[in-house]
Amino acid sequence: MPSKNERIGGFAESAIRRMTRIANQYGAINLSQGFPDFDPPQALIEAGIRAMRDGPHQYAVTWGASDFRQALAAKQSRLMGLDIDPDRHIVVTCGSTEAMMVAMLTVCDAGDKVIVFSPFYENYDADAILSGAEPIFVPLAPPAFDFDPAVLEAAFARRPKAIILCNPANPSGKVFTEEELLTIARLAEKYDSFVITDEVYEHIVFAPHRHRYFASLPGMFERTISCSSLSKTYSITGWRLGHVIAPPDLIDGARKVHDFLTVGAAAPLQAAAVTALKFPDAYYAELLDEYTKKRACFLGWLDRAGLSYLLPQGAYYVLVDIGEFIRGTDHDDIWFSEWMARRVGVAPVPGSGFFREPVRNYVRFHFAKREQTLNAAGEKLLEVRKRVQRTEP
Ligand code: GLN
Repeated sequence: MPSKNERIGGFAESAIRRMTRIANQYGAINLSQGFPDFDPPQALIEAGIRAMRDGPHQYAVTWGASDFRQALAAKQSRLMGLDIDPDRHIVVTCGSTEAMMVAMLTVCDAGDKVIVFSPFYENYDADAILSGAEPIFVPLAPPAFDFDPAVLEAAFARRPKAIILCNPANPSGKVFTEEELLTIARLAEKYDSFVITDEVYEHIVFAPHRHRYFASLPGMFERTISCSSLSKTYSITGWRLGHVIAPPDLIDGARKVHDFLTVGAAAPLQAAAVTALKFPDAYYAELLDEYTKKRACFLGWLDRAGLSYLLPQGAYYVLVDIGEFIRGTDHDDIWFSEWMARRVGVAPVPGSGFFREPVRNYVRFHFAKREQTLNAAGEKLLEVRKRVQRTEP
């Protein structure tokens, strides 16, 4: 038999999806793969029912239904402070996952380099490899997740085609400061690179931090491909609705890539989502309020359990330091995560899957869950120390 594509030979199973499988196997509360266990807004569900009853049921325009793009352009123009044109600046995709892949395939030729901050959301590495590009990793060192501007400049000096910027960041919860973004902007300009953003947590940024859309920095719209999705904002991760926003020349390329990859995102779901895109700003304030409470609730449990963590500034993840539990043992974060699922009944993701550096002392929990789920998980977390001391296998 001929051999498979060599590029995928190095791919391991996603650490995130693997932990979901293990959580299900042991019946553990799944705080690994980040998705809500609560319903989307009722008005959106109703709009979904209407769309299923009345249509559309056939293909939408490949780069997105017109009413979806109009509603999205109005919302993002308001938030980003830019004049987003629904007909020239948007491609609607199957989630931000497709948006990121489209962005990469739009700008990268085989052999190009792409800067990726580490820790990183695991898809970026795969996106780079699938598009024939070579990732250059730049560390965001815990606990502050700052980057060294000199190290970043050295990476830019290798003339990457693009840098991937996840802000707010998964898994660290870092929200990049204006100063950091301006450093990235200066270097992208100096070395003439594109900036591909993943801003799916744009509405989950905890005070006093604020989200700054990279494309809204002076002069940056022209070289930025902004990717985001409706998954986190409207609690519809399974609807697979995302988007690319970029200048017309890049959109022209992105439309073609997207068309050949997927033709389009689900037409009835695009129709339904128009309702959500037209929600008033109060909706986003309330969403943030809810996540602020969830963060406080879950971090409260970590405090009570005596587990140390890095305070997330945005998104809905928290990295917990498990160094003290594995130091001097043969165990690593992968073992510990499985042990958590098996013995404690709460499943995190091993942190090493997110780091390019040999960092083994973190596990990632997510807190996009109902308070009762977080409380049930929290009660179990109180057992971690006792169980570790008893060194239960
Ligand atoms: N973004 C979510 C996470 O990091 C979900 C990932 C996925 O499985 N698509 O957990």
